[in-house]
Amino acid sequence: MSYIFGPVPSRRLGLSLGVDLIPHKTCTFDCLYCEVGRTTNRTITSGPLAPVDEILRQLDKRLMECRPDVITLAGAGEPTLHSEIHHIISGIRELTDTRIVILTNGSLFWDEAVRQRVLGADLIMPTLSSAVSSTFQTIHRPHGDLTLDGIVDGLKQLRMEFRGLIYLEVILLSGINDTDEEVRALKPLIQEIQPEKIQLNTVVRPPADLCAKALDSTRLEEIKLFFGERAEIVVDIGAEKGTKTRDTKGDGLLEMVRRRPLRTKDMANSLGLTVGEVEAMVKGLLIKGRLRRQDHSGEIFYMSNEMDRG
Ligand code: SF4
Repeated sequence: MSYIFGPVPSRRLGLSLGVDLIPHKTCTFDCLYCEVGRTTNRTITSGPLAPVDEILRQLDKRLMECRPDVITLAGAGEPTLHSEIHHIISGIRELTDTRIVILTNGSLFWDEAVRQRVLGADLIMPTLSSAVSSTFQTIHRPHGDLTLDGIVDGLKQLRMEFRGLIYLEVILLSGINDTDEEVRALKPLIQEIQPEKIQLNTVVRPPADLCAKALDSTRLEEIKLFFGERAEIVVDIGAEKGTKTRDTKGDGLLEMVRRRPLRTKDMANSLGLTVGEVEAMVKGLLIKGRLRRQDHSGEIFYMSNEMDRG
């Protein structure tokens, strides 16, 4: 079992070396827009979901081969469900001074124990996409014990206790949470949480549910202006940076698309190959049935046929 993926070019973080703490697909939510498929284990119960020693051993080995901009704790689900995430953070600190990021849906910070475990990170990136309870339920299909009020209180509490940066992500879905009423209701809640940045995002990869549709750039711009100077639209820096490690066998490619759907240009840059070389590999893997393709917003993404098996 490999717990380390990438580095992959991240739209928000540069070159990101991922640590996958959570087995597919264990999450507190089952979001319409999820890139890693439907949640099969919806839970709010933390546990030692992956072995800390083995994660750190694999990370140490990978760090000898690459120099990422950040190490991102994430996974095919919600990373704060890992009950030993604090040991992983302190273990990473002993290996490297690379910044540690937690990519989270922010749903468990009402729990003091969960907040305490993440305080050693440099940057926490939670999601808050609606101030309206019914819309929150529609978008995230959360575990039955979670409430929007509880989650917002947890995020405010986190802000008071956490010394690092918080970049709050707002996922905007066309026809669901992009109305004037929605964004007007969300703005004061975000102001109370006081994130350093508000990152506006939309559906850029094939979602778990096809009703999750992207906003157009005009509406994204309008919402950015409304949220003010801390708001930014997350730009796809996809093909700007990569590991430049040549991989012509397809192993690295399969590992990347097992985590999330990618375009050929994303793969090419991460693998240090030309788009033509990647297309040749993709063709072979399609024929063998190891990859499948999906059109999304006029672009072609490839994903692993092993993704759904978990
Ligand atoms: S998008 Fe994130 S929070 Fe939502 S279901 Fe997928 S892994 Fe969970």
